Amino acid sequence: MSSALSTKIGIIGGGQLGKMMILEAKKMGFYVAIVDPDPKCPAHTLVDKHIVAGLKDREAILQLAEISDVITYEIEHIDVDALFEVEKNGMPVYPTPASLKIIQDKLTQKQRLIDEGAPAPEFVAANSVADIVAAGEKFGYPMMLKARKGGYDGRGNFHVASADHAQEAYNALDGEKNPLMVEKFVDFVMEISVLACRGKDGTIAIYPVAQNAHKDEILQETRVPATISNKTRDAAMALARQVMEIFEGVGMFCVEMFVHKDESVSVNEIAPRPHNSGHYSIEGCIASQFENHVRAVAGLPLGDTSLFKPTVMRNILGEPGHSGPAFVQGVEEVLSIPGATLHIYGKQETRAKRKMGHITVVADTLEDAVAKGVLASNSLKMISKESGGNND
Ligand code: ATP
Ligand code: MG
Repeated sequence: MSSALSTKIGIIGGGQLGKMMILEAKKMGFYVAIVDPDPKCPAHTLVDKHIVAGLKDREAILQLAEISDVITYEIEHIDVDALFEVEKNGMPVYPTPASLKIIQDKLTQKQRLIDEGAPAPEFVAANSVADIVAAGEKFGYPMMLKARKGGYDGRGNFHVASADHAQEAYNALDGEKNPLMVEKFVDFVMEISVLACRGKDGTIAIYPVAQNAHKDEILQETRVPATISNKTRDAAMALARQVMEIFEGVGMFCVEMFVHKDESVSVNEIAPRPHNSGHYSIEGCIASQFENHVRAVAGLPLGDTSLFKPTVMRNILGEPGHSGPAFVQGVEEVLSIPGATLHIYGKQETRAKRKMGHITVVADTLEDAVAKGVLASNSLKMISKESGGNND
């Protein structure tokens, strides 16, 4: 490796997060290679080299390492043993496989947090229907059954309303095959997240607190700054810093948190990567989460995380009832809204509730950004050709 800009960055995953990382990497002229099974994945047109292979394909990950100077990833559901191997061969992997291994499994992640004194919901492992029923006696109902690994967008979670639903919950998450855990249900007043980035020199940059609204457990809207008390803000920033001290590794992390009635906060989960709730930072902050991730993995100084103005991000999900080749309707309406920016990930196929893009609105006031965000997302639809839509 000579100068920082000649660093070859290898990314596992070429979905939207990989794509947005690469857009930043390319601004600075980095060489980028990816591993992704889909030859037409969102990042495919942007990369110098695309190894078409599964994210858990050990050979492909070793091959990626051969043509890279540093390895990072856009998703945590990957082969961590291959990453340990890459690291053992002397190549940096950011964030570290050691942190990824713990975080990948929601149970070991929560155990680690609790062992280190970070607030998180109580939980127990659940390997049978009887375990779920026993958890119900401990925690009461409702409670949250979770797949320990592989979940995203709430797929992997099941609300257990009563002991009568224990079997149904176990079946829904395929408990025979997947290790599960039960969490006490958190009666939160708000969900927030804090992005943080660690540079190679150990510097930690923390972003402002973001307020997240989920619909059907899928992120729908992020508002920044969050409408929270100073007490909550200070607690959230302190908790993000505490989490960064618990988990080592260079690069972006996101700490999803619950805000409780008494204004205190606890950790919902951690992502060792840029996160959907940080997309606002592309237009909203001086240096986005993707820019800082690239700077971090390349060993460069981190950028300023300050927010320019109130910013709202709304996800664009595949329209229910539509599945097939993706078409966007309403682009002109969205782009006619002052302060609105449109991101379309370039996924070839749309499906109900699939994350297909997002809209960001930057405005002078949060109220204005929220209103324009709602207007913009009501104007936009991600439909499929087969369902009779037009592409405008
Ligand atoms: P992501 O989309 O962030 O990848 P995920 O599928 O990994 O999400 P979680 O973040 O664990 O899942 O949960 C999704 C949502 O479900 C949370 O944002 C929250 O709204 C709700 N949730 C999760 N755990 C609990 C809990 N213990 N009590 C109440 N609600 C919860
Ligand atoms: Mg989550």
